[in-house]
Amino acid sequence: MKTIGIDIGGTQLRAAVIDENYNIIETYKTKNDRTVTCEENMDKLISFILSKKEEFKGIGIGCPGPLNLKNGSVIDPPNLIGWDGFEIVKYVREKTGMRVELNNDANCAGLAEALLGKGKGYESVCFMGLSTGLGGAYVYQGKLVNGAHGNAAEWWNMMVNDDPYGHKNANPGSLNEQSAGSGLQAAAERAYGRSMEPKELFELYYKNDEKAVRIIERGVNALARGIANVTCVIDPDVIIVGGSIAIYHPLYMKMAIERSKQYLLAPESLHVEPALFGDDAGLVGAALLLAD
Ligand code: ADP
Repeated sequence: MKTIGIDIGGTQLRAAVIDENYNIIETYKTKNDRTVTCEENMDKLISFILSKKEEFKGIGIGCPGPLNLKNGSVIDPPNLIGWDGFEIVKYVREKTGMRVELNNDANCAGLAEALLGKGKGYESVCFMGLSTGLGGAYVYQGKLVNGAHGNAAEWWNMMVNDDPYGHKNANPGSLNEQSAGSGLQAAAERAYGRSMEPKELFELYYKNDEKAVRIIERGVNALARGIANVTCVIDPDVIIVGGSIAIYHPLYMKMAIERSKQYLLAPESLHVEPALFGDDAGLVGAALLLAD
């Protein structure tokens, strides 16, 4: 039976019909409209689902965290304005009559990579999505490890040095603040005294600009520690890395992987792979939440 996958994002909402082999056969996209309520935004996706007039196995939802996985609600994700406290599982279940499963977007992407992407066939799979923030997932024996409170594998908030800068949701010295897009951007803006996207920062780095080299080097060192710390705790078969920054700047990743080996007990066993899926990982992974 087919499944519906939903991917909630700060700017875009997507729903897809996904077949038994986890191929996406139809997608619907709409803007996450901040001028209407979260219920009205969800109703657009629900109308798409109900227009299908066929029976589905259920609906899997990937949504930015933090989430309350116990009661299926959204807590207060910084990039989802107006969705705080939304009991999304209850709402979608009542409107569609279907089984509904929820998890955070990075966990969904990691699940897709673990079961169908570069993690296929491995028992212990870590995932890092390095884009605006650094999302994470851990899949063991084919199942997401959520932790006691739904906060396992949140690598982004792991502290890797004494850098004093953080923001509301990320610790000072955290992996997110040193290595991911938002943190690199903040560091660049402090150093250059003007707005600067990570894309420009990397361009300056490749031209050997002193400030950019300092920021990117710090990002690499932090990421190296992050990869090593994750390995110390989990010793996974494979760490899969996806996200725009990893895709556009493989050198950044390559340097981090090499540097992390100095911190490992068994550096030869470190196995890092670039992600197989792009943007669709979240949708496919959301559908996989119903795979049992
Ligand atoms: P999301 O974070 O919502 O998954 P994206 O995958 O588009 O969105 O990632 C956006 C992040 O990647 C931002 O921090 C952006 O500045 C950064 N980014 C986009 N293109 C580039 C690039 N060419 N070089 C470096 N960073 C980039």
